Amino acid sequence: MAKQQFEAESKRLLDLMINSIYSKREVFLRELISNASDAIDKMYYYALTDDQITFDPNDYYIRVDVDQDNRQLTVKDTGIGMTKDELENNLGVIAKSGSLAFKHENEIKDGHDIIGQFGVGFYAAFMVADQVSVTSKSVHSDTAYLWHSEGADGYTIEPTTKDSIGTTITLTLKEGSEDEDYDQFLDPNQLQTIIKKYSDFIRYPIKMELTEQKLKDDSEEEYETVVEDKTINSMVPIWKKNKSELTDDDYKQFYHEKHYGFDEPLEHIHVSVDGNIRYQAILYIPEKAPFNYYSQEYEKGLELYSNGVLIMNKAPELLPDYFSFVKGLVDSEDLSLNISREMLQHDRQLKLIEKNLVKKIKQELLKMLRNDREKYETFYDSFGRQLKYGVYSDFGQNKETLQDLLLFYSSTEEKLVTLDEYVERMKDDQTYIYYATGENHTRIDRLPQTEMVKDKGYEILYFTDEVDEFAIKMLAEYEGKAFKSVSSGDLGFEDEEDTKVDDLPETDQAVFNKMKEILGDKVKDVKPSKRLKSHPVCLTNQGDISIEMEKVLSMMPD
Ligand code: ADP
Ligand code: MG
Repeated sequence: MAKQQFEAESKRLLDLMINSIYSKREVFLRELISNASDAIDKMYYYALTDDQITFDPNDYYIRVDVDQDNRQLTVKDTGIGMTKDELENNLGVIAKSGSLAFKHENEIKDGHDIIGQFGVGFYAAFMVADQVSVTSKSVHSDTAYLWHSEGADGYTIEPTTKDSIGTTITLTLKEGSEDEDYDQFLDPNQLQTIIKKYSDFIRYPIKMELTEQKLKDDSEEEYETVVEDKTINSMVPIWKKNKSELTDDDYKQFYHEKHYGFDEPLEHIHVSVDGNIRYQAILYIPEKAPFNYYSQEYEKGLELYSNGVLIMNKAPELLPDYFSFVKGLVDSEDLSLNISREMLQHDRQLKLIEKNLVKKIKQELLKMLRNDREKYETFYDSFGRQLKYGVYSDFGQNKETLQDLLLFYSSTEEKLVTLDEYVERMKDDQTYIYYATGENHTRIDRLPQTEMVKDKGYEILYFTDEVDEFAIKMLAEYEGKAFKSVSSGDLGFEDEEDTKVDDLPETDQAVFNKMKEILGDKVKDVKPSKRLKSHPVCLTNQGDISIEMEKVLSMMPD
């Protein structure tokens, strides 16, 4: 039989695929299972909408089988099948997605969306197999066909026999070598793990025959080998369940099952959105920062699913940096996927989701701040610094989102307070929000510059993190109140005009002149000040930044 050539682009893509466009070869199984699931979706839909076809949900399943002697792995589905033309068009031409065409033709509504929308997944089979056979019988055809290919040099199609409607894909696995182990894909336990990992939430049962040692009936120590047909996947993902069905413990279990962290999550957020873009999400606010959190090594991101199929382990697009500590997943049936599912290019959709998630996360944090201050402080202790970086790094764009989440230590309350609480407590004659910077609270307490401000009964925020003052500079003000460093030259006390050197008695003037002479270039000026009470002298600066910040700035390269 004449061998047909793949279309030119397909051939190139196939080469690419064989050389692994995917980072992990095991994802081939995810792709085949997701195609099977798509095909069943179509059949399901077809059966539901056609009176001629009897409908029994039990007829819809996927089966994975191994034949170790022949090194073959089979994925079988009871989906819609493919006609000869479809085999040719769908498997002979890459990037022409049958799923997409079907979608447009039928204008599928809720719940009947199809996972893949751009054709390439099937070719992932060639990452692990040197021969691929597809036997398919379409619901629209009386004849079954066998499509066969041994890789980039083409494929053949011939009639064959098959009893039931659906598709069976058989891979003959490559011979392994020391660093390339294909035998793992013949090991039922290994396959079970892969299916669990990537396809657990496929809505149809994925069945496998598993061999198990079981206690014989009526016996306490005699075992027998039983072959059992098992459904590997759990089918209903926790995020598709109703919140009311789930307990806190369920969410915690899931957190650990997913290996999001070794700690206990402080809070979970379960979102189900039915708007422009439909999705479900489960997010967690961890208790502790991972050891590498404040380093370059830390990778932010959420798991991304498309209708139950895992596409990406960490989609960074779904979280802004300032919420990079959030763990969890997003599942959306509205995501169209392109070439490699690991290279998503759906900025617009993802941006929409991100925006929405940011809102939810913020709401949750504000709720925690209001209702469980202690818990919030635990959170803040781990991730507060990241929020402040967030305020600082985005030229003030994140201001609105983040300013109400910040906490600073207060001189009068002797605990962490919000800016809102500070402003609430401001005195009638107070214009500014005062802050002082230093290494720790005790040191700041001792600063002579704080004396006068404290004397007036004003509250001072203590900045001990290097990023604090930078963040506050970005904010510039809160609720119309500007921030002011206690070491600033002008503290903004209207009634407290300082005496000028010229107005002093001559002997005092001489002292000031002598001091200026001795200090020379080291200072701009030496002046009398009313801000001092128990200290003889203090440093101030002319601009609006603190001495600490000046130090940091002067250390930065130009
Ligand atoms: P995608 O799933 O993104 O469309 P694939 O390369 O995975 O791309 O599959 C290409 C096309 O082949 C599918 O769109 C579908 O029309 C067809 N196909 C693949 N596997 C099956 C199957 N098991 N049953 C029916 N059709 C299938
Ligand atoms: Mg596919």
